[in-house]
Amino acid sequence: MTKKIKRRDLLLGTGAAAVAASTNPVRAQSKTYRWKMVTTWPPNFPGLGTSVVRMVKNIERASGGRIKIKLFSAGELVPAFEVFDFVSSGGAELGHGAAYYWRGKSEAAQIFTTLPFGLNAMELNGWHYFGGAQELYRELYEPFNLLPFPCGNSGCQMGGWFKKPIDTIEDVKGLKMRIPGFGGEVLRRNGGIPVAMPGGEIFTALQTGTIDAAEWIGPYNDLAFGMHKVANHYYYPGWHEGGPSLECIINKEAFESLPDDLQAIVEIAIQSTNDTMLAEFVARNASSLKQIKKMKEIEIKPFPEEVMKAFEKTTNEIIKEIEAKDPLFSKIFKSFSDYKETASEWTKISEYALLKNRYKD
Ligand code: CA
Repeated sequence: MTKKIKRRDLLLGTGAAAVAASTNPVRAQSKTYRWKMVTTWPPNFPGLGTSVVRMVKNIERASGGRIKIKLFSAGELVPAFEVFDFVSSGGAELGHGAAYYWRGKSEAAQIFTTLPFGLNAMELNGWHYFGGAQELYRELYEPFNLLPFPCGNSGCQMGGWFKKPIDTIEDVKGLKMRIPGFGGEVLRRNGGIPVAMPGGEIFTALQTGTIDAAEWIGPYNDLAFGMHKVANHYYYPGWHEGGPSLECIINKEAFESLPDDLQAIVEIAIQSTNDTMLAEFVARNASSLKQIKKMKEIEIKPFPEEVMKAFEKTTNEIIKEIEAKDPLFSKIFKSFSDYKETASEWTKISEYALLKNRYKD
């Protein structure tokens, strides 16, 4: 099947896949599809892994058992960072992770997850669904035989846990911090030492002093890890991850082999996960923050303006450097930044204006 399928065709059921799938409706309706799904998360990982479990159940239920999905956590079938290649090659039909894990394939992938000082979750969803991202996202993944979908969002993260206060940009110098990817590079260019390590190692590294600071996700997951036991300065906001989108990838041929109604069920289950994961993070982060605020020894505070300004300046410099050498990044970033400019104007007089009135301090 060579005809390019557009998202709206998929939603309206008018695409080439829908036509092909409807050629033998009786056979298509009685067939059971047994799929595998690999994820980048440990088993039942709160918020991220649990949302995928819910999604799989939804697909099985809505399809009346015509799609059965065997779910594999990170390392069970393939290691976390091999999910992309595994689904691309057809080893599994579905995968869940985050596009910024695939920076090694293309620098542009990270734009679909988040960029420092980028969009919040609502704005990012607007770009994904109605702001031009979807076609670019598909174009980027097309050579890999993958269909990508936004599938969940943690909402704005926290800036991280620090053993010592950050009062000026000088305090960043020599700071050993667990912060991966783009955010880590921003830290490095401001004199810090970014350290990459999986979530499971953060607590011990902070406890033993191997690192001085660490970002993870937000109150819900940070509390579960016990970060408050090993560092007592909790900074906000998560400037590097202001509303990162998770991602579901589907092997293109596997998706196209489904009849139209099952394609719709898979798509709608993914969209529903995109909503419910964010809702879960909002609710659980809020209740976890309430618990952390009761801990007298923990100081919750904003990064100094000077530090945020320096980090934002560095972010823009890095983006310009990548743009200069990567035309695809540049093309996708243009869509992102044009959208950000437009969306920011609306956010300013809607959410921002409303929230400013809600907080009088
Ligand atoms: Ca994070």
